[in-house]
Amino acid sequence: MTQISFCGNAARAIMLLAIVSMLSPCPSLLAQLPSGWKAHDLSRPAPKVVTPAKQLGDAPSDAIVLFNGEDLTGWTNRSGKPSKWKVVDGTLESVQGAGPIFSEQKFGDCQLHVEFASPSNVKGNGQGRGNSGVFLMESFEVQVLDSFENGTYADGSAGSIYGQYPPLVNASRGPGEWQSYDIIFHRPRFDDSGKMNKPATFTVLHNGVLIQDHSEAFGPTSWIQHGDYNANVSEGRLSFQDHGNPVHYRNIWVRPLEDPKPRDVSNDRLVFELTEADKKALVGQYGKLPVTLKNGRLYIKFAGALLEMVAHSKTEFSLKKSAGSVTFELDEAGVPTKCTLQLDAAGQRMGERKAE
Ligand code: MG
Repeated sequence: MTQISFCGNAARAIMLLAIVSMLSPCPSLLAQLPSGWKAHDLSRPAPKVVTPAKQLGDAPSDAIVLFNGEDLTGWTNRSGKPSKWKVVDGTLESVQGAGPIFSEQKFGDCQLHVEFASPSNVKGNGQGRGNSGVFLMESFEVQVLDSFENGTYADGSAGSIYGQYPPLVNASRGPGEWQSYDIIFHRPRFDDSGKMNKPATFTVLHNGVLIQDHSEAFGPTSWIQHGDYNANVSEGRLSFQDHGNPVHYRNIWVRPLEDPKPRDVSNDRLVFELTEADKKALVGQYGKLPVTLKNGRLYIKFAGALLEMVAHSKTEFSLKKSAGSVTFELDEAGVPTKCTLQLDAAGQRMGERKAE
């Protein structure tokens, strides 16, 4: 007969681990879903109310309006001095030689709406026609170009992440016509050592048409080749490029985006390890609520759904995926006689166990 034995220290360590695991919560056993929330949890905070604009494309109630249509308040040149860009008929006009214009405020993750118009007086071709650009964090360009019947390299056409991703389609309007970009931007993420965890991402609608679908930037955009990520920067100014063409901008607003707050799990109940006998004892038909055991897991069936149960004692359970609980009542002999299913989504159901 082969006997498996442990040396003294190893055996003690394993025993200690077993005791610790009984006393302290084990996160992998807390049955958390990726969001930290189960379905229909009534304690989940309601979304903040935002009043949308009356006119589609205008700023909603929580947006920061960056251009007032009258002057360059809130805008500077690269060094923070007054910009030489012009305000013309309520629009912001790029001026050749003035350099890019920068917002005074800095942003990281954001939703940005901007409208632009290339010159109606068509001059030049390729990259020389209606060229400007919307820069996030001063580093990542969504190309602005008159791409209406104007060929150029694909990753430099209107709506490209310049030099990296062409737009999915060319949704350009003609020269002089107002167009819109709606940009969802997420800044790159780095760990404490400066290693990148997540690249910057862009989702862009051009005139309401999806042209970038969560595109992951290789690094800051540049003309000949892209640059390297800088781990020390988590936000930056918004800017528009001066590429020598009098491109106009208007209706510029931004909504900074916050990371969702993780749910506080400090009050979560510990998972209780039931024996196979404990589990088998609960199996049965409780009114219209059948409790079954499969592959070591207990389930209660309701509304056609098999709901996996997570034990917190021999008689108290939560549900793995939905907000709710299952409790059993025992008779004097310790035999389950009654079951109560409480669901945030559907209220309470009770069932008495049928005699077998
Ligand atoms: Mg450009």
